[in-house]
Amino acid sequence: MTTCVMCEEAITNPVCPACLHKGVRQWLLEQSETRLADDVLDTTVRDIIGGSTDCIKCHSPMGVCAYCYTKDVFDVIKRRPSLVNDYLVYFNFDLEHMGWEQSARLITDDHY
Ligand SMILES: [Zn+2]
Ligand SMILES: [Zn+2]
Repeated sequence: MTTCVMCEEAITNPVCPACLHKGVRQWLLEQSETRLADDVLDTTVRDIIGGSTDCIKCHSPMGVCAYCYTKDVFDVIKRRPSLVNDYLVYFNFDLEHMGWEQSARLITDDHY
């Protein structure tokens, strides 16, 4: 079983950062958040690390799991608290609800 280079958990949902990024970027551009979209791109480039798992979409080798990638993206998104709720809805890979989603919920609770 291949594990993520960041969290060392098994990669059970092998979609690579590059594939996930397409959706995130499109969403940010729809919100006219060009600056955030560029910052997310920087994060994405950093997280594209080859590993021994193949992405189920583009078949590129990947080393960072969807959870760690969406957490890194969240660190950028949370600068716009008004976007956090939608981000949770569209890109929630925090399947155990124990990691970054918990701090995201705190932001949405504050905001709404
Ligand atoms: Zn990980
Ligand atoms: Zn991919």
